[in-house]
Amino acid sequence: MRIVVTGGAGFIGSHLCDALLDRGKEVLCVDNFLTGRRAHIEEMRARGGSRLSLLEHDVSETITIDGPVDAVYHLASPASPIDYLTFPIPTLKVGSLGTHNALGLALAKNARFFLASTSEVYGDPEIHPQPESYWGNVNPIGPRGVYDEAKRFAEALTMAYHRSHGVNTHIVRIFNTYGPRMRLADGRAVPAFLCQALKGEPLTVYGDGSQTRSFCFYSDLIEGLIRLMESEVHDPVNIGNPAEMTIMELAERIKEITGSFSPIECHPLPVDDPKVRQPDITRAKKLLGWEPKVSFEDGIQATIEDFRRRLDADEESGP
Ligand code: NAD
Ligand code: UDP
Repeated sequence: MRIVVTGGAGFIGSHLCDALLDRGKEVLCVDNFLTGRRAHIEEMRARGGSRLSLLEHDVSETITIDGPVDAVYHLASPASPIDYLTFPIPTLKVGSLGTHNALGLALAKNARFFLASTSEVYGDPEIHPQPESYWGNVNPIGPRGVYDEAKRFAEALTMAYHRSHGVNTHIVRIFNTYGPRMRLADGRAVPAFLCQALKGEPLTVYGDGSQTRSFCFYSDLIEGLIRLMESEVHDPVNIGNPAEMTIMELAERIKEITGSFSPIECHPLPVDDPKVRQPDITRAKKLLGWEPKVSFEDGIQATIEDFRRRLDADEESGP
């Protein structure tokens, strides 16, 4: 079985490639390293040997692959707010043109298709927790709109390929996920607070820290992604951990677990930052028999070990 993973050099993509290699699949990672890391490819190669191959390519341009392809996981896209604010047009292009190209590849190869969508399609939600039936509250012209609207378009295009061309498509709406291999300078809350706490620098909480998020460990997420791809579920499914906390609580817990004496500093809240976020995972439980298993304490401990090792090795903080 030969599987294409776009965005396979990124945080989630590299863990997905590992899981597929562990299941004996042949994996072709397609990535342009916009926010991905070459070090991940080396680690995957050590695991999968010749069953892992790499195509360095921008999927917003036509994707040409020789030979059979059984499944296409489309994860390519900047995902951290800092990244998509730095690359607004590439983010819009990869969500729209990139998704079109990845769907075209799946159609041409008669392959299954998987779209990594996001809880950001719900915007700043007025319904809490968020079920898949909620249509969302997104500002299309705000700075986050480049990511949110690209993913909403990607979902619409995926459903159109399913309905018009009969492609066997799957859509996951991923909620905040963390774990080893996140870039040190990724800018998202967990890696930012971990680096700051471990280096003894102030933890930068945006706003008053009363906004909430629900954090899922990567291994739980990957299990959910693979179960969804192997199912016959075509409508979107939320995958995330419903354990919700405020961002101030996240900062305090990270300080406590790392034993850091860093102060917590409040900084201005980014525009359109969602005030609450928690997945309703009723559908995932019912249709996939999936629910998260890893506690925040265990997940963050494993992430701290990875971050400590990389900080000690003086890993560069860029991609
Ligand atoms: P990441 O930035 O670590 O990985 C994204 C990967 O896509 C990188 O390797 C990057 O180089 C690659 N990429 C970007 N544009 C590309 C292009 N045009 N062509 C080829 N490759 C390209 O981010 P991540 O956290 O691993 O996110 C992966 C996917 O999951 C994204 O689609 C993201 O929207 C989605 N997601 C992630 C989260 C999360 O909490 N991590 C939450 C919701 C959705
Ligand atoms: N956040 C913060 N300090 C940081 C990074 C993020 O307070 O250094 C906040 C951010 O404003 C948001 C939450 O943490 O309210 C989660 O941000 P993240 O970038 O991890 O993901 P988001 O859920 O916003 O996509």
